Amino acid sequence: MKMWLMDILACPAEDCRSKLNLEIYTQHEIKIDNDSVTEIDEALVTCPKCGRWYPVIDGIVCMLPDEQRLEGKQRIEETKFLEKWKGRIPTEILKGGKPFGIQEE
Ligand SMILES: [Zn+2]
Repeated sequence: MKMWLMDILACPAEDCRSKLNLEIYTQHEIKIDNDSVTEIDEALVTCPKCGRWYPVIDGIVCMLPDEQRLEGKQRIEETKFLEKWKGRIPTEILKGGKPFGIQEE
């Protein structure tokens, strides 16, 4: 995911559409001619308005509706992401994040 993409992303929740915050965990630079572009590999996107969080996994930002994140493969993938970065993810997301967290409240 390119850094500039953050400027045009908004929270996909129907009742929200707020601007989002980004916390980058891993990134690398790509050289295009003489310019370098920041490519984000893993990051946490958070919404200051509704409290939802979205993961960037392998360079792809996952912004699915809550009901698709709560089940099956997606839930497993996103839980793995929370486990991997739990030392850097804010406690309020680990406990009681929207749509889910990994720790008991
Ligand atoms: Zn939101």
